[in-house]
Amino acid sequence: MAELFYDADADLSIIQGRKVAVIGYGSQGHAHALSLRDSGVDVRVGLHEGSKSKAKAEEQGLRVVSPSEAAAEADVIMILVPDPIQGEVYEKHIKDNLKDGDALFFGHGLNIRYGFVKPPAGVDVCMVAPKGPGHLVRRQYEEGRGVPCIAAVEQDATGNAFALALSYAKGIGGTRAGVIKTTFTEETETDLFGEQAVLCGGTAALVKAGFETLTEAGYQPEIAYFECLHELKLIVDLMYEGGLEKMRWSISETAEWGDYVSGPRIITDATKAEMKKILGEIQDGTFAKNWMDEYHGGLKRYNEYKKQDSEHLLETTGKELRKLMSWVDEEA
Ligand code: NDP
Ligand code: MG
Ligand code: MG
Repeated sequence: MAELFYDADADLSIIQGRKVAVIGYGSQGHAHALSLRDSGVDVRVGLHEGSKSKAKAEEQGLRVVSPSEAAAEADVIMILVPDPIQGEVYEKHIKDNLKDGDALFFGHGLNIRYGFVKPPAGVDVCMVAPKGPGHLVRRQYEEGRGVPCIAAVEQDATGNAFALALSYAKGIGGTRAGVIKTTFTEETETDLFGEQAVLCGGTAALVKAGFETLTEAGYQPEIAYFECLHELKLIVDLMYEGGLEKMRWSISETAEWGDYVSGPRIITDATKAEMKKILGEIQDGTFAKNWMDEYHGGLKRYNEYKKQDSEHLLETTGKELRKLMSWVDEEA
């Protein structure tokens, strides 16, 4: 069983006694910086020249300095810029500002797991990763609740790295919900696998294939959209609330029978064999290397895939249909 930690297991005074730099003010950055501040922690935000979120951070009462200044002032540095640029931000702004006993924090393990960031031996290396988007993390904190987090220590230079990570997690409300102990390796590999095989990659491909099967057979795209994309939310909400069992309790017996007999014909042994290959490429670093090459090579294939899908009948149909749904907010 996983090791779980709650408020009583975490000592907030540890992080309150440190100087924290949050580098980046996006989805996670704003939530961490604001909630740590509200937990009585000394926080500054490090943002690059021309940052789009600088004005917002200042409006919200935070002190914004350059990433280098933030790293120099602080002894706990949380890196919350996009994963593909963390290596560069580390080299340019953080590396030379690290002293023995400082702590380097991450919200995702990719750059440590694949060696794009190599911290010196005297520094604690920790992860606190909320299992939810930043806006939910902040909202839950403000409501006196929290989003569960996972926490890990890659390098325990001071001997107190995990206590520090738990203290940080408490400062953003994580221990109110529960913090699960993991490792950088486990978090990174399972996160990449989940988003590729199931959550994003697997689901998008499943929805598209189902939609294409119906429209190629002559059914109206609008009807196919409802059956293959729109209704997915109802099903996922049920699974989220009560697992497969609650989903099957709610759907008709006909749908449940079809689930049992047809599902395994869609996700076959061949699909699972491919999942194992994908996991292998995550574990041996092939995926991370290819992604960094793509990112730093100007995102050519990435933009091509994006364009292709934005022109797909599924997407153009959905755009029109969602105008009929007053309750759906396109602006997230
Ligand atoms: P976002 O893309 O939302 O935010 C990026 C922030 O970094 C912005 O404030 C952006 O500036 C800033 N930035 C961009 N370039 C630089 C630079 N060169 N120097 C300093 N700041 C820069 O990131 P996320 O919050 O999504 O992700 C941050 C980390 O959190 C990642 O490691 C991610 O894997 C992890 N994570 C994310 C989750 C999520 O829900 N999004 C969930 C759990 C973990 P600007 O002000 O110009 O926009
Ligand atoms: Mg991810
Ligand atoms: Mg139906």
